[in-house]
Amino acid sequence: METENNKKNFIGTSETYLRDEFSAWEPYRIHQIFNWVYHYGCRDFSEMTNLSKVMRAQLADRFYFSLPHIQNKTRSLDGSIKYLFKLDDGALVESVWMPSDSRKTLCLSTQVGCRLNCSFCLTASLGLKRNLAAGEIIGQCMAINEDLNENDSITNVVFMGMGEPLDNLGPVIDALRLMTAPEAMRLSTRKVTVSTSGLVDKINEFKKENIHINLAISLNATEDETRDRLMPINKKYPIKALMDCLRSYPLKPQRRHTIEYVLLDGINDTDADARRLAKWLKGIPCKINLIPFNSFESSEYRPPPEKQTLKFQDYLISQNFSAFIRQNRATDILGACGQLAAESQKPSYV
Ligand code: SF4
Repeated sequence: METENNKKNFIGTSETYLRDEFSAWEPYRIHQIFNWVYHYGCRDFSEMTNLSKVMRAQLADRFYFSLPHIQNKTRSLDGSIKYLFKLDDGALVESVWMPSDSRKTLCLSTQVGCRLNCSFCLTASLGLKRNLAAGEIIGQCMAINEDLNENDSITNVVFMGMGEPLDNLGPVIDALRLMTAPEAMRLSTRKVTVSTSGLVDKINEFKKENIHINLAISLNATEDETRDRLMPINKKYPIKALMDCLRSYPLKPQRRHTIEYVLLDGINDTDADARRLAKWLKGIPCKINLIPFNSFESSEYRPPPEKQTLKFQDYLISQNFSAFIRQNRATDILGACGQLAAESQKPSYV
């Protein structure tokens, strides 16, 4: 999948791989190439004039450039755009670009489908088709930036689209390094967030990588019985194991985790849930995003009444937590959290 005429896609190829491949080269050469590709948008090795002709030929011999193809764009009334990408093997994934006054956020995908089977999520209905390569992950970002006006360029990236990012750890790490490297895409680590359903072993592996991006934990319940039902991964990593893992996570000063809590009417939104949530999170540096559920046709769940959402938030604030109600974006185009399923293959706007 990564090869075309025995060549490898340069997009997403890690610095470590390139250093091994060109071990006789000075390391700064790799940074020069990254600058050409990720900063100047160069897609032709012969144009990299600060490299020798021999180097350029060696690169062209081994690598090609490929970005995911934009198959379709759907605009939301709130200004967001959902992109449907067709990958080299025909697989489809979606990303959502969400503008606001202060930022332009891209929500990108890391897998075609997902195997974790959360019961409130439309992506889960696809099952896992395959993992994305690093180039297909970072490529969503590059292809969208190329499609947009310079003023609309992506400032923030959230790994919250299709898939569980930590279930595809290697390519996600390669993509994160390229996104945040000063010689590549140059995004601040503060502006990149990876969301996880709580794969404790993978979070522990991720810790060792020393990539200080933000981590968002999709928690969504305060009792194992309920979480088992909503997110079957909880049977393997119950709430206590997840909380212990977060407590020992080496956060940089002034940084905190994000706790994502999708509110489901009558399921996880009671006053007792609010109290238990505060208890679980005591001592963990975090902010809490409360997300009233986005209903979709086949779903058994509904969002709580607004009054209950506000009461839930008020309690958390009274316990000194930063708790925010996140209004969903792109709900009219199935672009909101848990709604991505690459279902729309008919062009509705291009
Ligand atoms: S919520 Fe996330 S982890 Fe759960 S099934 Fe959907 S994409 Fe996978």
